[in-house]
Amino acid sequence: MIPLSRPKRKFPVYSFESTFLSRTLRLGVEVLMVLAVVMCADAFAQQQIVLTNVTIIDGTGGPAQRNRTVVIKGDRIQSIAAGHEHTPSSAKVIDLQGQTIMPLIINTHGHLGLTNGTTQSAANQTDDNFRHQLLRYQEYGVGAVLSMGTDGKRFAEIREESRRGALPGADVYTAGIGFGAKNGVPPATMGFTQVFRPETPAEARSEVAQQVPQKPDFIKVWVDDFWGQYPTMLPEIYGAIIDEAHKHGLRVAAHVYHLQDARSLVADGVDVLAHSIRDADVDDALIGEMKEHHVAYIPTLSLDDFAFAYGDSPKWVDDAFFTAALDPGVLEMITSPEYKAKVQSNKVTAQEQAALPEAMRNLKKIYDAGILVSLGTDSGATPIRIQGFAEHMELALMVQAGLTPIQAITVATLNGAKLLHIEDQYGTLAAGKKANFIVLEKDPSQDIHNTQTIRAVWKDGNKVSDGPLAAGTSAMLR
Ligand SMILES: [Zn+2]
Repeated sequence: MIPLSRPKRKFPVYSFESTFLSRTLRLGVEVLMVLAVVMCADAFAQQQIVLTNVTIIDGTGGPAQRNRTVVIKGDRIQSIAAGHEHTPSSAKVIDLQGQTIMPLIINTHGHLGLTNGTTQSAANQTDDNFRHQLLRYQEYGVGAVLSMGTDGKRFAEIREESRRGALPGADVYTAGIGFGAKNGVPPATMGFTQVFRPETPAEARSEVAQQVPQKPDFIKVWVDDFWGQYPTMLPEIYGAIIDEAHKHGLRVAAHVYHLQDARSLVADGVDVLAHSIRDADVDDALIGEMKEHHVAYIPTLSLDDFAFAYGDSPKWVDDAFFTAALDPGVLEMITSPEYKAKVQSNKVTAQEQAALPEAMRNLKKIYDAGILVSLGTDSGATPIRIQGFAEHMELALMVQAGLTPIQAITVATLNGAKLLHIEDQYGTLAAGKKANFIVLEKDPSQDIHNTQTIRAVWKDGNKVSDGPLAAGTSAMLR
């Protein structure tokens, strides 16, 4: 038989004094134990790491500083000094003789999860694929990515998972659910199925407003016709999107190609042109408007290069720094005779080839005018825009366009942090800033291609990767 009521618990009888004493003692011991654990954890977390003999490119645009000592405590840089600092014996010292550190790269125009192998589809946006791509960005030294309008309904959740570490790797920023044209750009046939395609200004306003509670970092619009192949979004639609976004304190970034569209978008108050103007030279009137209204510019030169580069079998296709970034099947696809023939016979290839030098001219003019330019690549939008590699290619192309290596690095670091309002964590290396940086074998202020000599990636005071060429790194990501 099961007893219906539990037997009464018998309490031991203590005198008041002994109970009080034992409680006090027990409490005292517990407090001491907790204190010891806290102090241990604190000592562990606060152990100083000292980088010695290192060259620093700090992201501010200043020249490389040689023979520096960097003290890291917890997740932050405590000090940067010339020569040797006194280091406590408990500190962990890492001699970086001959090596250079620079801030993590900020990619302000990327796409997450859409591509997998040689396919592109919203169906690829699984947590596994996000994780894989964010870790790949990180091993190439990218600290944060602004995903430009293709994250679908889960955009806020993906960003939240990134913040709490459930999605490790580069930090996610998101332009939520972007706005395309009805039957237009971005084409649904290319996998862009998770965008709004409003037909009236009222519909557009309501679709902006419904995203406000999830706080997208930007609102994205696509204003392009892909060389006359698709209808362009009507100005009254993007005008309504921009106006409604601004009412809610949200900034708007626009996919753009043509000078006339850029002019119209800027006149309507757009905050960011998220690609280069590629059909004509920008004029002083537009540059003046952009300056006056603080419109930022993201050139994405690598996108234009990727569009035709593989047709000519560029020598970097054989580089391990490139191949380590590829999903299975991509190398076979882009080096196949069929693929090269397709690029060479494509009716828009000639326009794409002309677009890159035009984009470079416009970048130089816009940069020199003092407009905020940040690095973006459009990597991850299609399987041939290679995440991780593209960001380094972009740096090299900006230098080819006429920026100095130090200017290009500032565009890739400080300027991206400014655009995303994350200068506390990213963009520059200085006392008090987060210890977020790339360790390079060679100094990229001498040759921008040296950003490809990654030896380690540090985030929040911890080494998180040995770079893409470390043995087994890429294999471990999948
Ligand atoms: Zn894009």
